[in-house]
Formats: sequence, C-alpha cells, structure tokens
Amino acid sequence: MNIGVLALQGDFAEHIVMLKRLGVEADEIRLPGQLDSLDGLIIPGGESTTIGKLAEDFKLMEPLRAFGKSRAIWGTCAGAIFLSKDVRRHQPLLGIMDIIVERNAFGRQVDSFEADLDIEPLKKATRTTDPYHAVFIRAPIIQSVSGKAKILSVLPDGRIVAAQEEKLLATSFHPELTNDLRFHEFFISLAK
Ligand code: GLN
Repeated sequence: MNIGVLALQGDFAEHIVMLKRLGVEADEIRLPGQLDSLDGLIIPGGESTTIGKLAEDFKLMEPLRAFGKSRAIWGTCAGAIFLSKDVRRHQPLLGIMDIIVERNAFGRQVDSFEADLDIEPLKKATRTTDPYHAVFIRAPIIQSVSGKAKILSVLPDGRIVAAQEEKLLATSFHPELTNDLRFHEFFISLAK
C-alpha cells in the first residue's frame, strides 16, 4: 500500500505522519510522474485557490483527474473544495466529485470549532463504536451531493460535512490534526 499526499501547499506533513503511524508507505507528491505508483492520494487542507493555482503550474490537473477515475482520492477541507465540481466562484477545481461546496461557510479563523460526528461506514471499517471528534478550521460546507456521491456525515443541524463517491472522499474537517487514526484507516480501506 502506497499513499501519496499532494504537497503543493497546506498541512501535507501532518497527513504523512498519520499514514506512517499506520505503517503505510507515504510520499510527498509534486510531479505528475509520481502518481503512477500510488494506490491512493490525499489532498490536504490549506488554501484551495493556492493549491489549484500550483496544480495548474505543475501540470497536475489532467493527471489528477485521470487518477481519480480509478483510484482513491481524499480531500480534507481545501482538498475537498478542490475535488468538487462547483464552488459558485471562479477558481481552478478538479471537478471530479459530484458535490457543490461553499467555502468558508462557518466564518473566519476565529469561528473554528470541533464537533462529535457519528459516521457509520467509518465505525464499520475500523470496527469501533466511538463517535468521531472532528476539527473544523475555516471550513467549507458541502451544500449538496448528486449523482453517485453520497452523504457520509452531517452536523446536528443537518449541514453536510463529509461525502463519498465510490473511491472519492471529501471532508470539511481535518482528521490530520487529531490523534484519531480512524479516518486515515477508513481511506486506506477505500484505496485497497
Ligand atoms: N478556507 C480554505 C479554502 O477556502 C480552506 C481552509 C482549510 O483547508 N482549513 O481553501
């Protein structure tokens, strides 16, 4: 199992640490040729406009779209925005996941928060029962899912914060900033 983490901008180092703790080979990815040997790819949190701009500069847009047709990709926060098909404003997007996202939907950095989520597929994949404690930082909301995309988790008020479309995963929150390895374990199960 070899999982790459897109390392153009954002908190890719934290994802690498989580993957290594799970005993998985984890590489920083910056060039199209590095995608070939991977079973899955994580796109980290950061600033989606910057990640998009750099992905264009590094000629990664088409190779990433092709990758997502058959292999697993998980976007956390800015990464989820980058996977989406629409954010109702102009910025480079991969557009490979049937979700519409609203950026900074909870307000500014000071409005960051944490919440316990019940995510059944995650509990099943990791054979655990505890709720998942999620960290939200200038988080986007998934406004809607369509086609093959499914809602994976909602806040108590019903707002969507995680979605899955076959091997594609999008989370508004940041599992790489917690001590809980279960979300990475869940993603690895999708990449197999
Ligand atoms: N607000 C950022 C964006 O729009 C995402 C924030 C994050 O990744 N923590 O790209």
